[in-house]
Amino acid sequence: MQLVFATNNLNKLKEVQAIMPQHIKLISLKDIACNEDIPETQPTIEGNAIQKAEYLKKHYNYDCFADDTGLEVEALKGEPGVFSARYAGPQRNSEDNTNKLLTELSDKPNRTAQFKTVIALHLNGELHTFTGICKGEITVTQHGKGGFGYDPVFKADGYDKTFAEISLEEKNKIGHRGKAVAKLIRFLKEKQARSNL
Ligand code: IMP
Repeated sequence: MQLVFATNNLNKLKEVQAIMPQHIKLISLKDIACNEDIPETQPTIEGNAIQKAEYLKKHYNYDCFADDTGLEVEALKGEPGVFSARYAGPQRNSEDNTNKLLTELSDKPNRTAQFKTVIALHLNGELHTFTGICKGEITVTQHGKGGFGYDPVFKADGYDKTFAEISLEEKNKIGHRGKAVAKLIRFLKEKQARSNL
């Protein structure tokens, strides 16, 4: 089985590739000569994931999946949420976003937050979604050099290290994207098993 993963984010590609079974071959946007920015203009994380998968199917006609992720912070009423990528402005800079988040939270005792990933899969003309959530908290300062985005300020529940201080394998095991991808893989395996009956 071949599937296009509709992302230009190499960090996401690396994370997802690490847990995909070998019989599911991941194809990148580069492989299908898609060099454009796929629109993500919907008001929800789920809407954006669906928009990206549908865009790719419509314009390139490949079975594919897309992910959209947001960081939802309780004391900020769920923000940055769907605006996570451009929280500090249209430049979409992770360092700026993270600094803005720390500033917004500087006088807030409640630092509870969660990452939410929605994966939208376009397969055989049907659309399916898979959600992964990882609960945790925002640290007071940045820790660690690994990962990407908000990883240096997010500590999952039960962990004393941020996502930027743990391995890719560990992040995939407990993280939002890993959980959504695990659901996607389960679905694909069941579908394959049914079609081989
Ligand atoms: P998008 O899903 O690519 O739109 O990502 C939204 C924002 O969340 C971007 O600023 C990403 O850097 C950030 N982000 C997405 N996934 C993760 C993650 O696993 N860890 C930390 N930040 C992330």
